[in-house]
Amino acid sequence: MTIDTPAPKTTPRKKKLPLKQRYSLLTRDLDWDPSYVDKQELFPYTSYEGIKVHDWNGWEDPFRLTVDAYYKYQAEKDKRLYAVLDGFAQSQGHLTLSEASYLNSLKLFIQGVTPLEYAAHRHFAYLARYLEGPAPRFAALCQSVDELRHCQTQIHTISNYNKYYGGFHSWTKQKDRVWYLSVPKSFFDDAMTAGPFEFLIAISFSFEYLLTNLLFVPFMSGASFNGDMPTMSFGFSAQSDESRHMTLGLEAIKFLLEQDEANVPIIQGWIDKWFWRAYRVAALVAAMMDYMLPREVMSWKEAFELYFEEQMMGGLFPDLEFYGIKPPRHVDLAIAEKDHLSHQAYKILHNFSFAAAFTTHTPTDEKMAWLSEQYPDTFDEHYRATWEKHQKIEAEGGRVFVQGLPQLCQVCQIPMAFTEPDDPERISFRHSEYRGETFHTCSDGCQWIFDREPEKYVQAWLPVHQIYQGNCGGPSVPEVLDWYGIQPGDNGEYHGSLDDLAWQQWHSDDKTKHDDGKEA
Ligand code: FE
Ligand code: ZN
Repeated sequence: MTIDTPAPKTTPRKKKLPLKQRYSLLTRDLDWDPSYVDKQELFPYTSYEGIKVHDWNGWEDPFRLTVDAYYKYQAEKDKRLYAVLDGFAQSQGHLTLSEASYLNSLKLFIQGVTPLEYAAHRHFAYLARYLEGPAPRFAALCQSVDELRHCQTQIHTISNYNKYYGGFHSWTKQKDRVWYLSVPKSFFDDAMTAGPFEFLIAISFSFEYLLTNLLFVPFMSGASFNGDMPTMSFGFSAQSDESRHMTLGLEAIKFLLEQDEANVPIIQGWIDKWFWRAYRVAALVAAMMDYMLPREVMSWKEAFELYFEEQMMGGLFPDLEFYGIKPPRHVDLAIAEKDHLSHQAYKILHNFSFAAAFTTHTPTDEKMAWLSEQYPDTFDEHYRATWEKHQKIEAEGGRVFVQGLPQLCQVCQIPMAFTEPDDPERISFRHSEYRGETFHTCSDGCQWIFDREPEKYVQAWLPVHQIYQGNCGGPSVPEVLDWYGIQPGDNGEYHGSLDDLAWQQWHSDDKTKHDDGKEA
């Protein structure tokens, strides 16, 4: 018995297709129309927000990235970053920082920002499944992988400091529990519980495009100015991803605006909401820039004028006017606040750092001179006297912490410490009624957001309310701190803290050695 076996055909190796064609095969032609499931069933989330998309192929791919090119490029960047990390760890690079107090800004970063990277990873993975067009789905997939990498490289970079300094050890637990971390967490939770298009406008546009230079650049330049090479390196490594993410944000908004005129008012509402939400999170960054960096980069005000007022208000919004999009509602309030924001935000951190996983200190004379120079219209008039009072109390051995629990804004969750736009001596309170209850917000911006979706914000997990309800370890401060996972040396005043003492010890050893050498 014989079986006819055809001789195996040898096919000549095909030439590689041009990138553009390969990219289109990857993102478009691999897509198919469902035959046995209804489209609505396959993509259940792209219609309920009211956004109308007529042609998903209208989505331009600004970066024609393929999976193999993507991984090759990212691996190169990782190799470079990990070489820096190894070198820094082996040479005890942490001792060459400007001062140990610099690390407080990095504590804020790993506790407050790194968890957002992970949340972004999760939600872009969700968009990679649920967006209807293949091109945006692929863009979301890449961003999801980017965000996971950001989270991982940040953990690896910052873990080096965890060996020597307080405040770095329990951030995954703390992001769900500690009062100031509920500010960034609630911001992202708000976005993740919105629909897919609102998420894109919230995160890709408002957060990554509108405010990215105010949110991330200060940390990275702060790192470089203060001798933190590893953080600077992960910043660089993330930067090329960031430009891709920003482009996704801009592409998303233009695509949605071009698809249907009915999308314009919906998107305007999201821009209005998410500008203010993201701007309020930036209050933490403002405090960090002006008060927490031993060597300053630029003031919050200067950065706000350059990156927001000039670049966004001057460049982007005039472009978007073509589509019928106006600058964000309440943007005038943000501009009016720029001379006050950092001072008011840092005062909160300074008042309550006994319950935080970082330390604070009263600005020195030198720092106050810099602040007067940066804020000639406000610092001396409204803020200097308070700090001088603190200095006096501390010179006599005291330190003021506010022991009561502050009232929080129902939307941004920041303690009520911002002032009226026309009166910097009066705390701004707004009240709204919903189902017979009163809810408090910090500003016209937050009140407007609350009134637009009260059923969402009445559910807010407000740290202070949770303490009063007995959900945070117990009624006393030590019980709450224990539940927060705060260990001795993490919190309170910087001067005399474990970080400060260790730093002085390490550097006095250096000094003695040098002096001995000279004398010998
Ligand atoms: Fe990221
Ligand atoms: Zn608020």
